[in-house]
Amino acid sequence: MSAVPRQYERQAQTFPTLSNEQIARIARHGRMRQTRHGELLYDQGTETASFFVVISGALDIVRPHKNREDPIAVLGPGQFTGEINLVTGRRSLARARVIEAGEVLELDGDALRALVQTDSELSELFMRAFILRRMNLIQLGLGDVVLIGSHHSPSTLRLREFLMRNGHPHNYVDVEGDADAEKILHHFGIGVEDVPVVICRGEVVLRNPTFEQVADCLGLNAAIDVEAVRDLLVVGAGPAGLAAAVYGASEGLDVLVLETHAPGGQAGASSKIENYLGFPTGISGQALAGRAFTQAEKFGADVAIARSAARLRCTERPFSVQLSTGDVVRARAVVIASGAQYRKLPLERLADFEGAGVYYAAGPMEAQVCGGEEVIVVGGGNSAGQAATFLAGTEKDPKTGEDVPRTTHVHMLVRSTGLAQSMSRYLIRRIEEIPNITLRTRTEIVKLEGGQRLERVTWKDTATGELTTVPIQHVFLMTGAVPKTAWLSGCLVLDDKGFIKTGQDLGADDLAAAGWPLARPPLLFETSRPGIFAVGDVRAGSIKRVAAAVGEGSVCVQLVHRLLAE
Ligand SMILES: Cc1cc2nc3c(=O)[nH]c(=O)nc-3n(C[C@H](O)[C@H](O)[C@H](O)COP(=O)(O)OP(=O)(O)OC[C@H]3O[C@@H](n4cnc5c(N)ncnc54)[C@H](O)[C@@H]3O)c2cc1C
Repeated sequence: MSAVPRQYERQAQTFPTLSNEQIARIARHGRMRQTRHGELLYDQGTETASFFVVISGALDIVRPHKNREDPIAVLGPGQFTGEINLVTGRRSLARARVIEAGEVLELDGDALRALVQTDSELSELFMRAFILRRMNLIQLGLGDVVLIGSHHSPSTLRLREFLMRNGHPHNYVDVEGDADAEKILHHFGIGVEDVPVVICRGEVVLRNPTFEQVADCLGLNAAIDVEAVRDLLVVGAGPAGLAAAVYGASEGLDVLVLETHAPGGQAGASSKIENYLGFPTGISGQALAGRAFTQAEKFGADVAIARSAARLRCTERPFSVQLSTGDVVRARAVVIASGAQYRKLPLERLADFEGAGVYYAAGPMEAQVCGGEEVIVVGGGNSAGQAATFLAGTEKDPKTGEDVPRTTHVHMLVRSTGLAQSMSRYLIRRIEEIPNITLRTRTEIVKLEGGQRLERVTWKDTATGELTTVPIQHVFLMTGAVPKTAWLSGCLVLDDKGFIKTGQDLGADDLAAAGWPLARPPLLFETSRPGIFAVGDVRAGSIKRVAAAVGEGSVCVQLVHRLLAE
Protein backbone atom coordinates (compact mmCIF):
# COMPACT_ATOMS: atom_id res chain seq x y z
CA MET A 1 0.00 0.00 0.00
CA SER A 2 1.49 3.38 -0.87
CA ALA A 3 -1.49 5.68 -1.16
CA VAL A 4 -1.31 9.00 0.63
CA PRO A 5 -4.51 10.88 1.39
CA ARG A 6 -3.28 14.29 0.34
CA GLN A 7 -1.67 15.21 -2.95
CA TYR A 8 1.59 16.75 -1.94
CA GLU A 9 3.83 18.75 -4.18
CA ARG A 10 6.58 16.54 -5.65
CA GLN A 11 4.81 13.48 -4.29
CA ALA A 12 7.38 10.92 -5.46
CA GLN A 13 10.25 12.75 -3.76
CA THR A 14 8.26 13.52 -0.64
CA PHE A 15 7.18 9.91 -0.09
CA PRO A 16 9.73 7.82 -2.02
CA THR A 17 9.78 4.02 -1.95
CA LEU A 18 13.15 2.49 -1.08
CA SER A 19 14.65 -0.35 -3.09
CA ASN A 20 15.50 -3.70 -1.43
CA GLU A 21 19.17 -2.88 -1.76
CA GLN A 22 18.69 0.47 0.01
CA ILE A 23 16.68 -1.18 2.79
CA ALA A 24 19.46 -3.74 3.25
CA ARG A 25 21.95 -0.87 3.74
CA ILE A 26 19.71 0.80 6.31
CA ALA A 27 19.14 -2.52 8.10
CA ARG A 28 22.81 -2.63 9.14
CA HIS A 29 22.12 0.37 11.40
CA GLY A 30 18.80 -0.72 12.95
CA ARG A 31 16.64 -3.62 14.05
CA MET A 32 13.63 -5.40 12.59
CA ARG A 33 10.49 -5.62 14.69
CA GLN A 34 6.93 -6.83 14.33
CA THR A 35 4.04 -4.39 14.60
CA ARG A 36 0.48 -4.89 15.89
CA HIS A 37 -2.64 -3.28 14.52
CA GLY A 38 -3.33 -0.04 16.45
CA GLU A 39 0.19 0.18 17.94
CA LEU A 40 1.48 3.75 18.43
CA LEU A 41 5.05 4.04 17.13
CA TYR A 42 5.39 7.65 18.27
CA ASP A 43 3.11 10.51 19.19
CA GLN A 44 3.12 14.26 18.70
CA GLY A 45 5.59 15.58 21.26
CA THR A 46 7.65 12.36 21.53
CA GLU A 47 11.14 13.60 22.36
CA THR A 48 13.20 10.85 20.81
CA ALA A 49 11.06 9.36 18.06
CA SER A 50 12.74 6.59 16.07
CA PHE A 51 12.91 6.40 12.30
CA PHE A 52 10.88 3.55 10.77
CA VAL A 53 10.99 1.90 7.36
CA VAL A 54 7.85 -0.10 6.61
CA ILE A 55 8.78 -3.62 5.53
CA SER A 56 5.22 -4.99 5.50
CA GLY A 57 1.86 -3.69 6.67
CA ALA A 58 1.01 0.03 6.82
CA LEU A 59 1.29 3.12 9.06
CA ASP A 60 -1.02 6.09 9.36
CA ILE A 61 0.71 9.44 9.96
CA VAL A 62 -1.62 12.08 11.40
CA ARG A 63 -1.53 15.39 13.20
CA PRO A 64 -3.66 15.25 16.41
CA HIS A 65 -5.60 18.48 16.71
CA LYS A 66 -8.61 19.45 18.86
CA ASN A 67 -9.94 15.89 19.44
CA ARG A 68 -9.49 14.95 15.80
CA GLU A 69 -6.70 13.68 13.62
CA ASP A 70 -5.65 15.49 10.45
CA PRO A 71 -4.33 12.97 7.92
CA ILE A 72 -0.79 13.52 6.72
CA ALA A 73 0.15 10.27 4.98
CA VAL A 74 -0.38 6.52 4.84
CA LEU A 75 2.95 4.70 4.46
CA GLY A 76 3.30 1.27 2.92
CA PRO A 77 6.18 -1.18 2.27
CA GLY A 78 9.44 0.55 1.33
CA GLN A 79 8.31 3.93 2.67
CA PHE A 80 9.71 5.64 5.75
CA THR A 81 8.60 7.94 8.55
CA GLY A 82 9.93 11.29 9.72
CA GLU A 83 10.66 14.83 8.74
CA ILE A 84 13.37 17.31 9.54
CA ASN A 85 12.91 17.08 13.32
CA LEU A 86 14.41 13.59 13.20
CA VAL A 87 17.71 15.03 12.04
CA THR A 88 17.65 17.95 14.44
CA GLY A 89 16.71 15.69 17.38
CA ARG A 90 13.56 17.67 18.17
CA ARG A 91 10.13 16.51 19.32
CA SER A 92 7.89 14.83 16.80
CA LEU A 93 5.17 16.99 15.23
CA ALA A 94 2.99 14.05 14.18
CA ARG A 95 1.59 10.72 15.39
CA ALA A 96 2.43 7.37 13.73
CA ARG A 97 0.07 4.43 14.21
CA VAL A 98 0.06 0.93 12.74
CA ILE A 99 -3.10 0.42 10.65
CA GLU A 100 -2.03 -2.88 9.14
CA ALA A 101 0.14 -5.24 11.21
CA GLY A 102 3.46 -6.25 9.71
CA GLU A 103 7.14 -5.52 10.16
CA VAL A 104 9.22 -2.33 10.44
CA LEU A 105 12.91 -1.53 10.48
CA GLU A 106 13.65 0.83 13.39
CA LEU A 107 16.64 3.20 13.78
CA ASP A 108 17.10 5.53 16.71
CA GLY A 109 18.00 9.19 16.09
CA ASP A 110 21.76 8.69 16.52
CA ALA A 111 21.81 5.76 14.10
CA LEU A 112 19.85 7.79 11.54
CA ARG A 113 22.20 10.76 11.87
CA ALA A 114 25.22 8.46 11.49
CA LEU A 115 23.63 6.98 8.36
CA VAL A 116 22.96 10.36 6.69
CA GLN A 117 26.53 11.41 7.40
CA THR A 118 28.04 8.33 5.79
CA ASP A 119 25.72 7.19 2.97
CA SER A 120 25.45 10.00 0.46
CA GLU A 121 22.74 8.39 -1.69
CA LEU A 122 20.43 7.72 1.26
CA SER A 123 21.33 11.07 2.79
CA GLU A 124 20.14 12.89 -0.34
CA LEU A 125 16.95 10.84 -0.51
CA PHE A 126 16.08 11.27 3.17
CA MET A 127 17.05 14.93 3.45
CA ARG A 128 15.06 15.86 0.35
CA ALA A 129 12.00 13.97 1.62
CA PHE A 130 12.33 15.47 5.12
CA ILE A 131 12.66 19.03 3.79
CA LEU A 132 9.72 18.61 1.39
CA ARG A 133 7.59 17.10 4.15
CA ARG A 134 8.40 20.05 6.41
CA MET A 135 7.53 22.50 3.63
CA ASN A 136 4.18 20.76 3.16
CA LEU A 137 3.46 20.84 6.89
CA ILE A 138 4.20 24.57 6.92
CA GLN A 139 2.00 25.22 3.89
CA LEU A 140 -0.89 23.24 5.37
CA GLY A 141 -0.38 24.66 8.88
CA LEU A 142 -0.05 21.11 10.27
CA GLY A 143 2.06 21.73 13.35
CA ASP A 144 1.86 21.47 17.10
CA VAL A 145 1.35 25.18 17.77
CA VAL A 146 -1.56 27.57 17.54
CA LEU A 147 -0.83 31.27 17.73
CA ILE A 148 -3.81 33.46 18.56
CA GLY A 149 -3.13 37.11 17.95
CA SER A 150 -4.17 40.33 16.35
CA HIS A 151 -2.79 41.85 13.19
CA HIS A 152 -2.72 45.18 15.04
CA SER A 153 -0.35 43.87 17.70
CA PRO A 154 3.46 44.19 17.40
CA SER A 155 3.91 41.22 19.72
CA THR A 156 1.84 39.05 17.40
CA LEU A 157 4.03 40.02 14.46
CA ARG A 158 7.13 39.28 16.55
CA LEU A 159 5.87 35.76 17.37
CA ARG A 160 4.61 35.03 13.86
CA GLU A 161 8.01 36.00 12.51
CA PHE A 162 9.76 33.84 15.08
CA LEU A 163 7.74 30.75 14.14
CA MET A 164 7.98 31.44 10.43
CA ARG A 165 11.70 32.22 10.41
CA ASN A 166 12.32 29.03 12.41
CA GLY A 167 10.31 27.04 9.85
CA HIS A 168 7.94 25.79 12.53
CA PRO A 169 4.51 24.80 11.13
CA HIS A 170 1.70 26.50 13.01
CA ASN A 171 -1.86 27.73 12.79
CA TYR A 172 -2.44 31.44 13.09
CA VAL A 173 -5.84 32.54 14.39
CA ASP A 174 -6.59 36.26 14.26
CA VAL A 175 -8.98 37.53 16.95
CA GLU A 176 -10.28 40.17 14.56
CA GLY A 177 -10.87 38.06 11.49
CA ASP A 178 -11.29 34.43 12.52
CA ALA A 179 -14.57 32.90 13.65
CA ASP A 180 -12.69 30.13 15.53
CA ALA A 181 -10.79 32.59 17.74
CA GLU A 182 -13.50 33.11 20.34
CA LYS A 183 -14.16 29.37 20.72
CA ILE A 184 -10.46 28.60 21.23
CA LEU A 185 -10.01 31.45 23.72
CA HIS A 186 -13.06 30.28 25.64
CA HIS A 187 -11.90 26.64 25.63
CA PHE A 188 -8.57 27.61 27.22
CA GLY A 189 -10.06 30.24 29.52
CA ILE A 190 -8.11 33.06 27.90
CA GLY A 191 -9.33 36.63 27.44
CA VAL A 192 -8.90 38.72 24.29
CA GLU A 193 -6.72 41.03 26.39
CA ASP A 194 -4.20 38.16 26.79
CA VAL A 195 -3.31 37.88 23.11
CA PRO A 196 -0.94 37.04 21.60
CA VAL A 197 -1.22 33.56 23.04
CA VAL A 198 0.77 30.52 21.99
CA ILE A 199 -0.75 27.08 22.58
CA CYS A 200 1.75 24.21 22.34
CA ARG A 201 0.50 20.68 21.58
CA GLY A 202 -2.98 21.73 22.71
CA GLU A 203 -1.73 21.67 26.32
CA VAL A 204 0.52 24.54 27.34
CA VAL A 205 -0.81 28.08 27.11
CA LEU A 206 1.73 30.92 26.97
CA ARG A 207 0.51 34.51 27.20
CA ASN A 208 2.62 36.98 25.21
CA PRO A 209 5.69 34.75 25.64
CA THR A 210 9.34 35.52 25.04
CA PHE A 211 11.19 33.66 22.28
CA GLU A 212 12.93 31.64 24.99
CA GLN A 213 9.59 30.48 26.42
CA VAL A 214 8.29 29.50 22.98
CA ALA A 215 11.52 27.64 22.18
CA ASP A 216 11.33 25.75 25.47
CA CYS A 217 7.67 24.90 25.01
CA LEU A 218 8.34 23.54 21.53
CA GLY A 219 11.44 21.71 22.73
CA LEU A 220 13.61 23.41 20.11
CA ASN A 221 16.72 23.00 22.27
CA ALA A 222 15.76 19.92 24.25
CA ALA A 223 18.48 17.70 22.76
CA ILE A 224 21.32 20.17 23.37
CA ASP A 225 23.86 19.49 26.11
CA VAL A 226 24.88 22.87 27.55
CA GLU A 227 27.35 21.31 29.98
CA ALA A 228 29.80 19.90 27.41
CA VAL A 229 32.99 21.82 26.65
CA ARG A 230 32.83 22.28 22.87
CA ASP A 231 35.65 22.58 20.37
CA LEU A 232 33.92 25.56 18.83
CA LEU A 233 31.21 27.93 20.00
CA VAL A 234 29.66 30.06 17.26
CA VAL A 235 27.64 33.09 18.30
CA GLY A 236 25.02 33.92 15.68
CA ALA A 237 23.35 31.72 13.07
CA GLY A 238 23.39 34.16 10.16
CA PRO A 239 25.18 33.16 6.96
CA ALA A 240 28.61 33.54 8.57
CA GLY A 241 27.78 31.51 11.70
CA LEU A 242 25.97 28.79 9.77
CA ALA A 243 28.91 28.47 7.37
CA ALA A 244 31.29 28.10 10.32
CA ALA A 245 28.95 25.46 11.78
CA VAL A 246 28.65 23.47 8.54
CA TYR A 247 32.41 23.46 7.87
CA GLY A 248 33.33 22.94 11.52
CA ALA A 249 30.92 20.04 12.12
CA SER A 250 31.62 18.38 8.78
CA GLU A 251 35.32 18.43 9.63
CA GLY A 252 34.81 16.71 12.94
CA LEU A 253 34.63 19.61 15.39
CA ASP A 254 32.07 19.53 18.20
CA VAL A 255 30.14 22.74 17.43
CA LEU A 256 27.48 24.65 19.35
CA VAL A 257 25.79 27.65 17.73
CA LEU A 258 23.84 30.22 19.77
CA GLU A 259 21.10 32.18 18.04
CA THR A 260 18.90 34.88 19.58
CA HIS A 261 16.11 34.65 17.05
CA ALA A 262 16.18 32.33 14.04
CA PRO A 263 18.72 30.91 11.59
CA GLY A 264 19.51 33.19 8.66
CA GLY A 265 20.20 36.49 10.39
CA GLN A 266 19.70 39.52 8.20
CA ALA A 267 19.78 37.35 5.10
CA GLY A 268 16.76 35.47 6.46
CA ALA A 269 14.81 38.73 6.16
CA SER A 270 15.61 39.09 2.47
CA SER A 271 12.73 38.40 0.10
CA LYS A 272 15.09 37.32 -2.66
CA ILE A 273 18.87 37.11 -2.80
CA GLU A 274 19.87 37.33 -6.42
CA ASN A 275 23.62 37.74 -6.23
CA TYR A 276 24.54 34.59 -4.27
CA LEU A 277 26.56 32.19 -6.39
CA GLY A 278 24.68 29.20 -7.77
CA PHE A 279 21.14 30.58 -7.63
CA PRO A 280 20.59 32.25 -11.03
CA THR A 281 16.89 32.81 -10.38
CA GLY A 282 17.51 34.00 -6.81
CA ILE A 283 16.62 32.36 -3.52
CA SER A 284 14.68 33.74 -0.59
CA GLY A 285 16.72 34.36 2.53
CA GLN A 286 14.37 32.06 4.44
CA ALA A 287 14.96 29.16 2.03
CA LEU A 288 18.72 29.65 2.07
CA ALA A 289 18.77 29.83 5.86
CA GLY A 290 16.54 26.76 6.23
CA ARG A 291 18.84 24.70 4.02
CA ALA A 292 22.00 25.89 5.74
CA PHE A 293 20.51 25.19 9.17
CA THR A 294 19.52 21.65 8.15
CA GLN A 295 22.96 21.11 6.65
CA ALA A 296 24.65 22.21 9.88
CA GLU A 297 22.43 19.89 11.96
CA LYS A 298 22.96 17.03 9.50
CA PHE A 299 26.70 17.20 10.12
CA GLY A 300 26.08 17.16 13.87
CA ALA A 301 26.33 20.83 14.88
CA ASP A 302 23.92 21.85 17.65
CA VAL A 303 22.04 25.08 16.97
CA ALA A 304 20.40 26.53 20.08
CA ILE A 305 17.46 28.76 19.14
CA ALA A 306 16.36 31.73 21.26
CA ARG A 307 19.58 31.47 23.21
CA SER A 308 21.46 34.76 23.34
CA ALA A 309 25.05 35.28 24.32
CA ALA A 310 24.75 37.86 27.09
CA ARG A 311 28.35 38.02 28.30
CA LEU A 312 31.71 36.81 27.02
CA ARG A 313 34.28 35.67 29.56
CA CYS A 314 37.54 35.71 27.72
CA THR A 315 40.28 35.69 30.31
CA GLU A 316 40.22 31.95 31.04
CA ARG A 317 40.36 29.01 28.69
CA PRO A 318 38.20 27.24 27.79
CA PHE A 319 36.33 30.45 27.04
CA SER A 320 32.85 30.77 28.43
CA VAL A 321 29.76 32.63 27.39
CA GLN A 322 26.91 33.38 29.72
CA LEU A 323 23.51 33.09 28.09
CA SER A 324 20.52 35.30 28.75
CA THR A 325 18.94 32.27 30.46
CA GLY A 326 21.80 32.26 32.99
CA ASP A 327 23.36 29.05 31.60
CA VAL A 328 27.06 29.14 30.84
CA VAL A 329 28.51 27.36 27.81
CA ARG A 330 32.21 26.67 27.30
CA ALA A 331 34.44 26.12 24.29
CA ARG A 332 38.09 25.95 23.28
CA ALA A 333 37.54 28.39 20.41
CA VAL A 334 34.87 31.00 19.73
CA VAL A 335 33.67 32.39 16.40
CA ILE A 336 31.70 35.59 16.75
CA ALA A 337 29.20 35.95 13.93
CA SER A 338 26.65 38.12 15.68
CA GLY A 339 26.26 40.39 12.67
CA ALA A 340 24.59 43.74 12.59
CA GLN A 341 21.14 45.27 12.62
CA TYR A 342 19.59 48.32 11.03
CA ARG A 343 20.29 51.60 12.64
CA LYS A 344 17.31 53.08 14.46
CA LEU A 345 16.44 56.58 13.31
CA PRO A 346 16.40 59.27 15.98
CA LEU A 347 12.65 59.81 15.79
CA GLU A 348 10.28 60.43 18.64
CA ARG A 349 7.76 57.61 19.13
CA LEU A 350 9.81 55.22 16.94
CA ALA A 351 9.68 52.52 19.62
CA ASP A 352 5.87 52.89 19.90
CA PHE A 353 5.41 51.98 16.27
CA GLU A 354 8.00 49.20 15.88
CA GLY A 355 5.98 46.24 14.62
CA ALA A 356 2.91 48.50 14.42
CA GLY A 357 3.77 50.34 11.23
CA VAL A 358 7.57 50.46 11.43
CA TYR A 359 9.42 47.36 10.21
CA TYR A 360 13.04 46.33 9.79
CA ALA A 361 12.39 43.49 7.34
CA ALA A 362 10.31 43.26 4.21
CA GLY A 363 9.18 39.68 3.83
CA PRO A 364 5.84 37.99 3.05
CA MET A 365 4.70 38.47 6.66
CA GLU A 366 5.17 42.25 6.62
CA ALA A 367 3.71 42.47 3.10
CA GLN A 368 0.58 40.76 4.41
CA VAL A 369 0.29 43.34 7.18
CA CYS A 370 0.55 46.18 4.63
CA GLY A 371 -2.55 44.77 2.92
CA GLY A 372 -2.22 46.59 -0.40
CA GLU A 373 -1.61 50.10 0.96
CA GLU A 374 1.04 52.77 0.30
CA VAL A 375 4.41 52.27 2.01
CA ILE A 376 7.70 54.06 2.59
CA VAL A 377 11.11 52.38 2.34
CA VAL A 378 13.98 54.34 3.90
CA GLY A 379 17.54 53.64 2.78
CA GLY A 380 19.68 53.56 -0.34
CA GLY A 381 21.47 50.23 0.03
CA ASN A 382 20.79 46.89 -1.63
CA SER A 383 18.49 45.73 1.14
CA ALA A 384 16.32 48.84 0.70
CA GLY A 385 16.32 48.29 -3.06
CA GLN A 386 15.23 44.69 -2.62
CA ALA A 387 12.55 45.69 -0.16
CA ALA A 388 11.18 48.34 -2.54
CA THR A 389 11.03 46.01 -5.56
CA PHE A 390 9.50 43.22 -3.48
CA LEU A 391 6.85 45.47 -1.97
CA ALA A 392 6.04 47.00 -5.35
CA GLY A 393 5.46 43.52 -6.82
CA THR A 394 2.48 41.18 -6.79
CA GLU A 395 1.62 37.93 -5.04
CA LYS A 396 -1.03 35.24 -5.41
CA ASP A 397 -4.15 35.75 -3.36
CA PRO A 398 -4.45 32.45 -1.44
CA LYS A 399 -8.26 32.52 -1.77
CA THR A 400 -8.74 33.51 -5.43
CA GLY A 401 -5.34 32.51 -6.86
CA GLU A 402 -5.21 35.89 -8.64
CA ASP A 403 -2.12 38.11 -8.71
CA VAL A 404 -2.69 41.06 -6.41
CA PRO A 405 -0.31 44.00 -5.73
CA ARG A 406 1.44 43.79 -2.36
CA THR A 407 1.19 47.58 -1.98
CA THR A 408 -0.30 50.40 -4.05
CA HIS A 409 2.80 52.57 -4.06
CA VAL A 410 6.33 52.55 -2.66
CA HIS A 411 8.05 55.83 -1.75
CA MET A 412 11.81 55.32 -1.47
CA LEU A 413 13.45 57.91 0.74
CA VAL A 414 17.21 58.48 0.59
CA ARG A 415 19.26 61.22 2.17
CA SER A 416 21.80 61.38 -0.68
CA THR A 417 21.29 62.71 -4.19
CA GLY A 418 20.92 59.26 -5.77
CA LEU A 419 21.46 55.54 -5.47
CA ALA A 420 24.56 55.06 -7.60
CA GLN A 421 27.01 55.17 -4.70
CA SER A 422 25.18 52.70 -2.50
CA MET A 423 23.14 50.22 -4.56
CA SER A 424 23.93 47.52 -7.14
CA ARG A 425 23.29 48.57 -10.71
CA TYR A 426 20.77 45.75 -11.40
CA LEU A 427 18.56 46.95 -8.55
CA ILE A 428 18.77 50.63 -9.58
CA ARG A 429 17.67 49.69 -13.09
CA ARG A 430 14.78 47.63 -11.76
CA ILE A 431 13.64 50.47 -9.49
CA GLU A 432 13.74 52.89 -12.42
CA GLU A 433 11.52 50.58 -14.44
CA ILE A 434 8.82 49.97 -11.82
CA PRO A 435 6.12 52.65 -12.18
CA ASN A 436 4.77 52.36 -8.65
CA ILE A 437 8.08 53.20 -6.98
CA THR A 438 8.90 56.89 -6.48
CA LEU A 439 12.48 57.67 -5.53
CA ARG A 440 12.70 60.74 -3.28
CA THR A 441 16.31 61.85 -2.95
CA ARG A 442 17.59 64.29 -0.29
CA THR A 443 14.57 63.36 1.79
CA GLU A 444 14.33 62.17 5.37
CA ILE A 445 11.57 61.31 7.79
CA VAL A 446 11.20 63.85 10.58
CA LYS A 447 8.00 62.76 12.35
CA LEU A 448 5.90 59.69 13.02
CA GLU A 449 2.35 60.10 14.34
CA GLY A 450 -0.53 57.87 15.31
CA GLY A 451 -2.40 56.20 18.16
CA GLN A 452 -1.55 52.56 18.81
CA ARG A 453 -0.42 52.17 15.20
CA LEU A 454 1.43 54.45 12.84
CA GLU A 455 -1.02 56.70 11.00
CA ARG A 456 0.96 59.59 9.50
CA VAL A 457 4.50 60.33 8.41
CA THR A 458 6.14 63.68 7.79
CA TRP A 459 9.18 63.87 5.55
CA LYS A 460 11.48 66.79 4.76
CA ASP A 461 13.14 67.73 1.49
CA THR A 462 16.56 68.64 2.85
CA ALA A 463 17.38 70.78 -0.19
CA THR A 464 14.34 73.07 0.13
CA GLY A 465 13.31 72.45 3.75
CA GLU A 466 9.77 71.69 2.58
CA LEU A 467 7.76 69.39 4.89
CA THR A 468 5.19 66.92 3.57
CA THR A 469 2.77 64.95 5.77
CA VAL A 470 1.24 61.83 4.26
CA PRO A 471 -1.32 59.35 5.70
CA ILE A 472 1.04 56.39 5.22
CA GLN A 473 0.88 53.63 7.81
CA HIS A 474 3.85 51.43 6.90
CA VAL A 475 7.51 52.40 7.00
CA PHE A 476 10.39 50.04 6.29
CA LEU A 477 13.66 51.24 7.81
CA MET A 478 16.76 49.89 6.08
CA THR A 479 19.33 52.45 6.99
CA GLY A 480 22.87 51.26 7.56
CA ALA A 481 24.00 48.73 10.09
CA VAL A 482 25.24 48.81 13.66
CA PRO A 483 27.21 45.82 14.98
CA LYS A 484 25.84 43.54 17.67
CA THR A 485 28.77 43.69 20.02
CA ALA A 486 27.28 44.96 23.28
CA TRP A 487 27.61 41.49 24.84
CA LEU A 488 31.40 41.34 24.44
CA SER A 489 31.99 42.91 27.84
CA GLY A 490 35.03 44.88 26.70
CA CYS A 491 36.96 41.70 25.84
CA LEU A 492 37.99 42.65 22.32
CA VAL A 493 39.40 45.61 20.42
CA LEU A 494 36.69 47.33 18.38
CA ASP A 495 36.88 50.08 15.76
CA ASP A 496 35.33 53.49 16.32
CA LYS A 497 31.92 52.24 15.12
CA GLY A 498 31.95 49.19 17.38
CA PHE A 499 32.90 46.56 14.75
CA ILE A 500 35.44 43.92 15.85
CA LYS A 501 38.99 44.37 14.60
CA THR A 502 40.76 41.25 13.38
CA GLY A 503 44.03 40.06 11.80
CA GLN A 504 46.19 42.71 10.22
CA ASP A 505 43.75 45.48 11.14
CA LEU A 506 44.98 45.13 14.70
CA GLY A 507 47.90 47.52 14.98
CA ALA A 508 50.79 47.25 17.44
CA ASP A 509 49.00 49.70 19.75
CA ASP A 510 45.82 47.63 19.70
CA LEU A 511 47.73 44.46 20.53
CA ALA A 512 49.72 46.11 23.27
CA ALA A 513 46.58 47.57 24.83
CA ALA A 514 44.84 44.18 24.66
CA GLY A 515 47.87 42.40 26.14
CA TRP A 516 48.31 40.08 23.12
CA PRO A 517 50.28 37.22 24.68
CA LEU A 518 51.79 35.36 21.70
CA ALA A 519 54.90 35.80 19.58
CA ARG A 520 52.86 35.31 16.41
CA PRO A 521 50.51 38.03 15.17
CA PRO A 522 46.75 37.38 15.09
CA LEU A 523 45.60 35.01 12.34
CA LEU A 524 43.23 36.22 9.63
CA PHE A 525 39.84 36.84 11.35
CA GLU A 526 41.41 36.34 14.78
CA THR A 527 40.53 39.07 17.27
CA SER A 528 42.76 40.67 19.89
CA ARG A 529 42.27 37.49 21.99
CA PRO A 530 43.95 34.33 20.66
CA GLY A 531 41.29 31.70 19.98
CA ILE A 532 38.42 34.15 19.48
CA PHE A 533 37.56 34.90 15.86
CA ALA A 534 35.09 37.32 14.26
CA VAL A 535 33.49 36.84 10.85
CA GLY A 536 30.79 38.40 8.69
CA ASP A 537 29.10 41.74 9.20
CA VAL A 538 30.25 42.13 12.80
CA ARG A 539 33.89 42.24 11.67
CA ALA A 540 35.49 45.63 10.99
CA GLY A 541 36.14 46.06 7.27
CA SER A 542 33.92 43.16 6.18
CA ILE A 543 32.00 43.30 2.92
CA LYS A 544 28.34 43.28 3.89
CA ARG A 545 27.18 40.49 1.59
CA VAL A 546 25.91 36.95 2.06
CA ALA A 547 28.73 35.44 -0.02
CA ALA A 548 31.38 37.32 1.95
CA ALA A 549 29.87 36.20 5.27
CA VAL A 550 29.68 32.57 4.12
CA GLY A 551 33.25 32.75 2.82
CA GLU A 552 34.58 34.17 6.09
CA GLY A 553 32.65 31.65 8.20
CA SER A 554 34.03 28.71 6.24
CA VAL A 555 37.63 29.96 5.96
CA CYS A 556 37.66 30.64 9.67
CA VAL A 557 37.26 26.94 10.46
CA GLN A 558 40.73 26.24 9.00
CA LEU A 559 42.14 28.79 11.42
CA VAL A 560 40.25 27.21 14.32
CA HIS A 561 41.88 23.87 13.45
CA ARG A 562 45.28 25.55 13.48
CA LEU A 563 44.53 27.22 16.79
CA LEU A 564 43.31 24.01 18.42
CA ALA A 565 46.50 22.27 17.31
CA GLU A 566 48.72 25.00 18.82
C1 LIG B 1 16.69 42.76 4.03
C2 LIG B 1 18.12 42.41 3.65
C3 LIG B 1 18.39 41.98 2.38
C4 LIG B 1 19.71 41.63 2.03
N1 LIG B 1 19.94 41.19 0.77
C5 LIG B 1 21.18 40.79 0.42
C6 LIG B 1 21.44 40.26 -0.89
O1 LIG B 1 20.55 40.15 -1.73
N2 LIG B 1 22.70 39.86 -1.18
C7 LIG B 1 23.71 39.96 -0.30
O2 LIG B 1 24.81 39.53 -0.61
N3 LIG B 1 23.51 40.47 0.94
C8 LIG B 1 22.27 40.89 1.32
N4 LIG B 1 22.05 41.42 2.56
C9 LIG B 1 23.19 41.51 3.49
C10 LIG B 1 23.43 40.15 4.14
O3 LIG B 1 22.21 39.60 4.57
C11 LIG B 1 24.41 40.27 5.31
O4 LIG B 1 25.62 40.76 4.83
C12 LIG B 1 24.64 38.91 5.96
O5 LIG B 1 23.42 38.38 6.45
C13 LIG B 1 25.63 39.01 7.10
O6 LIG B 1 25.72 37.75 7.69
P1 LIG B 1 26.27 37.55 9.18
O7 LIG B 1 26.12 36.09 9.46
O8 LIG B 1 27.61 38.15 9.30
O9 LIG B 1 25.34 38.40 10.13
P2 LIG B 1 23.76 38.45 10.33
O10 LIG B 1 23.07 38.06 9.08
O11 LIG B 1 23.49 39.78 10.90
O12 LIG B 1 23.46 37.32 11.41
C14 LIG B 1 23.85 37.48 12.75
C15 LIG B 1 23.03 36.54 13.61
O13 LIG B 1 23.53 36.59 14.93
C16 LIG B 1 22.45 36.60 15.85
N5 LIG B 1 22.91 37.24 17.09
C17 LIG B 1 23.26 38.53 17.28
N6 LIG B 1 23.66 38.73 18.55
C18 LIG B 1 23.58 37.54 19.17
C19 LIG B 1 23.85 37.10 20.49
N7 LIG B 1 24.31 37.94 21.43
N8 LIG B 1 23.64 35.81 20.80
C20 LIG B 1 23.17 34.93 19.86
N9 LIG B 1 22.90 35.30 18.58
C21 LIG B 1 23.10 36.58 18.24
C22 LIG B 1 21.38 37.41 15.14
O14 LIG B 1 20.10 37.11 15.66
C23 LIG B 1 21.57 36.96 13.69
O15 LIG B 1 20.76 35.85 13.39
C24 LIG B 1 20.76 41.76 2.96
C25 LIG B 1 20.47 42.22 4.24
C26 LIG B 1 19.17 42.53 4.59
C27 LIG B 1 18.86 42.99 5.98
